[in-house]
Amino acid sequence: MVGIRSRRHFFASIMRLFLKCLHLGRWQRRRFKLMKRVEEFYRYGRLCLLSLVYNSFTNSDVVIDSLFEPIYWLVDHMTRWFGVVFVALVIVLTSSIVLIVYICVLPLILQTYTAGWISWHLSYGHWNLLMIVFHYFKAITTDPGYPPKAKLDIPTVSICRKCIFPKPARTHHCSICNRCILKMDHHCPWLNNCVGHNNHRYFFSFCLFMTMGCIYCSISSREMFREAYLAIEKMKLLEKERLQFTVNQTYYQTPAPTFSFREKMFHKCIVYLWLLCSSVAVALGALTLWHAVLITRGETSVERHINKKERRRLQKKGKVFRNPYSYGRCNNWRIFFGVETRLHWITRVLLPSSHLPHGDGLIWNASYATESRPTVLAI
Ligand SMILES: [Zn+2]
Ligand SMILES: [Zn+2]
Repeated sequence: MVGIRSRRHFFASIMRLFLKCLHLGRWQRRRFKLMKRVEEFYRYGRLCLLSLVYNSFTNSDVVIDSLFEPIYWLVDHMTRWFGVVFVALVIVLTSSIVLIVYICVLPLILQTYTAGWISWHLSYGHWNLLMIVFHYFKAITTDPGYPPKAKLDIPTVSICRKCIFPKPARTHHCSICNRCILKMDHHCPWLNNCVGHNNHRYFFSFCLFMTMGCIYCSISSREMFREAYLAIEKMKLLEKERLQFTVNQTYYQTPAPTFSFREKMFHKCIVYLWLLCSSVAVALGALTLWHAVLITRGETSVERHINKKERRRLQKKGKVFRNPYSYGRCNNWRIFFGVETRLHWITRVLLPSSHLPHGDGLIWNASYATESRPTVLAI
């Protein structure tokens, strides 16, 4: 009897275990189904979301650009608003230097220098000033060049996603001007204008002549600066002594003589002139040098970044990148300045000239497409 009972109990236990496993299996299947449902729902939702923003050109750069869009917007608007302030600053600072040169430096040159040196300073100084004023005026008043809206038969390379309009080669969108610019170099806040096909020469010449003018002023006034600096130091020392004397004096006595107001102003103006000219010469000189390198290579500032990427991409494939807009170092400079004859180096480069730039800024012949021109590898 005991044996039968224990056997029944054993079978009952097995049945219970079997039922439990069955129940567990059902629960597992239910959980699996639920997981599958959730996964399907996630996939469907993701597909819906991607279908809303899908673009075959979307990559990490586009996503980062989109995230930084509010910051770009703020910077663009600030640059647009402060453009007028920057232009006023250039005019005020340049005028102050010219005034100091006329009031403080020129009388000394006329008194101390020989006739030969006086004529050199007068002719060079005025020529340099004329070139600065002319090129700055032309750079801020000349429009950089825009793609025509009516002419639709021009060869284009892409479509501007901001203007929703075809872009010719070398044309780029300026987010500050909010329009496409032909052969765009950059937006210059000091000009409150874009630097493009029509005013690139004016911009570069302004930078060049401004640097030359600053170097000229720094070199011409270096001795005066040294003397003015020492005089200011002496002035401070005398002022300190005078104050100490006034505190300690017990009876009336005439205080030690100090510099007059005119002398003080003179020395301060010379120090201001030298410091401003030297710092502008260094900063603007570096910028001018960089633009000179770009012109030699036949690139704009925008193309520099594009070509750099393209060069790396082709390098990985074992190919060599050729800049299609470079016609050789000398030719690039000739095209940039619009020099067609030897005389043009004087009349169009060293003298104020309003001649139009080479080409229309819409059609660009690739250098390696023409047999007569040498193929140049972009460095
Ligand atoms: Zn555009
Ligand atoms: Zn612009």
